[in-house]
Amino acid sequence: MPQTEKINVRGVYFDNVTMEEGFRKAVSLIEAEGFSYMVTPNAEIVEACVENPALYEVVNAADLIIPDGVGVVYASKILKTPLKEKVAGIEMAAKVVEYAAKEHKKLYFFGGAKASDERKAVWELAADALKEKYPEIEIAGRDGFFNEEETDDIIDGINQSGAEILFVCLGAPKQERFIYKNRKKFTSVRFAAGLGGTLDVFAGVAERAPEFYLKHNLEWLYRFSKNPSRVGRMLKLPKFLFGTVFHGNKSVK
Ligand code: UDP
Repeated sequence: MPQTEKINVRGVYFDNVTMEEGFRKAVSLIEAEGFSYMVTPNAEIVEACVENPALYEVVNAADLIIPDGVGVVYASKILKTPLKEKVAGIEMAAKVVEYAAKEHKKLYFFGGAKASDERKAVWELAADALKEKYPEIEIAGRDGFFNEEETDDIIDGINQSGAEILFVCLGAPKQERFIYKNRKKFTSVRFAAGLGGTLDVFAGVAERAPEFYLKHNLEWLYRFSKNPSRVGRMLKLPKFLFGTVFHGNKSVK
């Protein structure tokens, strides 16, 4: 297993990796015995931990923690322990999919909108799109809208699929809580990952920000312009940065 340095950003212990190093670690985890998981926190999730410390355990118990946001990378610089780069969860997911196709590892996509009269469930649209690119890929899945009581059936479905790689795309922190709470119940899964809106992008129902926004670290602005109701969530970013400037890693674990 590649050893990676950990960097504490307001109580969340990120792996200090480039995309390539993070991917190599993900592959080692997939190929190792036993269950492991990856989380992809951005500033909003770290701030959610600061405000609700019970979440730290759910995030920090992960085997791979990648900084999925420029806010986190800025904060690491403010703290004078700079992370190497932003490692976008969706890009990591795309690399894992390519690896899974090549190595014949089955995937399970859990999350996204249900099927409607007009279209298939998001996970299925995502699977269809990826099958165009990788005809040999094997993907099972289900939508992400369910009642608590259905959890055991959902886990049974995942176990029965025999999938080794599980993407949980329920939004944060619901997806991280789901993985953490059920981590001992998986039988075939070697590697799970909390990946937010990734399936929507794979399915083509949401777009990633155009190159210009990505290059100038303005992905958050693009997402806001597409979905202004996210404003409440986005206010966590300035709160997080001010908190970092004024408190550093004091007052957190
Ligand atoms: N979602 C879900 N179940 C829920 C709530 C949300 O499957 O109960 C899905 C939703 O359809 C979307 C994803 O979770 O595909 C969340 O996307 P978002 O971009 O909000 O994620 P984040 O910003 O947290 O990464």
